[in-house]
Amino acid sequence: TTRIERHHYDVVVIGAGGAGLRAAIEARLAGKRTAIISKSLFGKAHTVMAEGGAAAAMGNVNSRDNWMVHFRDTMRGGKFLNNFRMAELHAKEAPERIWELETYGALFDRTKDGKISQRNFGGHEYPRLAHVGDRTGLELIRTLQQKIVSLQQEDFAETGSYDSKIRVFAETTITELMLDGDRVAGAFGYYRETGEFLLLEAPAVVLATGGVGRSYKVTSNSWEYTGDGHALALRAGATLINMEFLQFHPTGMVWPPSVKGILVTESVRGDGGVLRNSEGKRFMFNYVPDVFRKQYADTEEEADRWYTDPDNNRRPPELLPRDEVARAINSEVKEGRGTKAGGVYLDVSTRMPAETITKRLPSMYHQFKELADVDITKEPMEVGPTCHYVMGGVEVDPDSAAAFGKVTGLFAAGEVSGGMHGSNRLGGNSLSDLLVFGKRAGEHAAAYVDALAKRPRVATSDVESAVDVALAPLNRQSGENPYTLQQDLQAVMGDLVGIIRRAGELTDAAKRLQELKQRVANVGATGGRKYNPGWHLALDLRNMLVVSECTAKAALEREESRGGHTREDFPAMSPDWRKVNLVCSVDKSGDVHLERKPLPKMREELITLFDRTELSKYLTDGEMVEFDALPG
Ligand code: FAD
Repeated sequence: TTRIERHHYDVVVIGAGGAGLRAAIEARLAGKRTAIISKSLFGKAHTVMAEGGAAAAMGNVNSRDNWMVHFRDTMRGGKFLNNFRMAELHAKEAPERIWELETYGALFDRTKDGKISQRNFGGHEYPRLAHVGDRTGLELIRTLQQKIVSLQQEDFAETGSYDSKIRVFAETTITELMLDGDRVAGAFGYYRETGEFLLLEAPAVVLATGGVGRSYKVTSNSWEYTGDGHALALRAGATLINMEFLQFHPTGMVWPPSVKGILVTESVRGDGGVLRNSEGKRFMFNYVPDVFRKQYADTEEEADRWYTDPDNNRRPPELLPRDEVARAINSEVKEGRGTKAGGVYLDVSTRMPAETITKRLPSMYHQFKELADVDITKEPMEVGPTCHYVMGGVEVDPDSAAAFGKVTGLFAAGEVSGGMHGSNRLGGNSLSDLLVFGKRAGEHAAAYVDALAKRPRVATSDVESAVDVALAPLNRQSGENPYTLQQDLQAVMGDLVGIIRRAGELTDAAKRLQELKQRVANVGATGGRKYNPGWHLALDLRNMLVVSECTAKAALEREESRGGHTREDFPAMSPDWRKVNLVCSVDKSGDVHLERKPLPKMREELITLFDRTELSKYLTDGEMVEFDALPG
């Protein structure tokens, strides 16, 4: 029989990025024995790569900022498809979560009078991103880890063991959730180094596994982002929403090929960087959509004045939401005004002194110097769109982060959850999302455990089948090569379900994904269980595949263009589609189903934060009649 290490916890948190760590801290503070699982080394998550900052309406740089303005910006950025309650909680609670980080030891950059400094970012009306140079995520992870260590020291003083109440399992991948009927009962996985299996029995599981970018050819995401949490949720009976909405960040590196996709932070534009095509033209002025025309400058002069006098000038169009900028770059390149490597120019060298560049954008300076041999203080960068963030994710209750669908005891926070960002996320809203909903997930997971009359049990037969599934690729040494399969999947998603989509190609994608599904069922891995990346990828592939199926199906179904979903055959936003969430589920045989579900309706005191003209660009005539009938 196969050896399986067994552990018992109250709460298991899968993922050690910002959302997972913040959830674990809260569960432990509520007295729960908590495990944190991380596929890679502890401390190496996407959160650590976040550069620009965390959005929170603290009003430190412009005192006119407040949660209502942040809420409005978030809804606009998401083109009104956001779960309004999540956007509301996020805008209201983000400042508190940032200040709290300082009590954990975070050191944000300061304004002259000693407050937490805030920088401009696309789609945010006022300077709002709390930051540490362009290395904000590193500080966030550092302080959350420091808080965990300090809690472990308290536990040591009390129990004699650092791990007694909060334990980290690094380089450990969860492959399956365990259920008792429709209740979560634990998680099953393997240690990457030894290939040994482990079972964590727990009545509550928090998914905090981040994104899905690795299913795309060009992506800013690192190797571990294979949509595991999305797939675990689906297989456990939970549902996903908004999977058609993927954020293609406008500025990834395009050259040299080995680093294609690596992110160039939006701070470059926030701090004054401009986009030019191969003819030297600042093309973004040609791409301001009607819904945003009032807020954006129409001349270079006004745009440039905005950096020093934002109250009397409108913002530069380079700072439009990411979906707009990515599409604009895509069009310029397609129409033959791109660079040789297929991008456009992003320039700071003619915009600010070299010392300012190296001080404000140190990571970017080093990234281009080391990876592309480009000195950004002297010459422009070459950039193009890269698959960056998934707006879609686990459908959750906004207040408690509990997953919807046929399962209880499952919670989700951070990038793996859906709804908060609607059809497009604003930069900086992810780091704040992690903190706000990570805390809520930990708190409510703990409360759920407290309220349980009886703990769920893991059935031996379920553990045995999890072992069988995990070992299957190793029992098929001459099966399909996992690396070839991943490349084929990336080609289908990149070419047919990419930044611009068409019905014919999406139908073709669905067919090819079915073929890939057959091949993935026959994936093999050579070698044994000890540190075997081919085996690991073979196991990740079924997750990537089911998540990609949801994306492709939803992208075909949604016949409009909105945020991170652009249909060439349906180029306009449709007010009727705005009212619809596409909900994805899988049945016992693994088939993907899609269902239309009405979007929750915004409460009166929130919808009246917008003016009528703006709302009329997004809402149906029927909704406008309801709006006009509101008292006051
Ligand atoms: P992550 O930080 O992605 O962590 C996921 C965790 O889950 C990891 O520990 C991983 O190992 C673990 N995991 C995954 N699958 C499994 C499994 N099967 N078993 C066990 N563990 C698993 N957002 C902003 O707001 N501001 C920014 O400036 C910004 N800059 C960014 C720059 C880059 C280069 C990138 C890639 C993203 C950036 N983002 C930014 C987005 C933001 O960083 C991410 O959306 C966010 O960090 C996601 O956090 P998370 O806690 O949800 O997950």
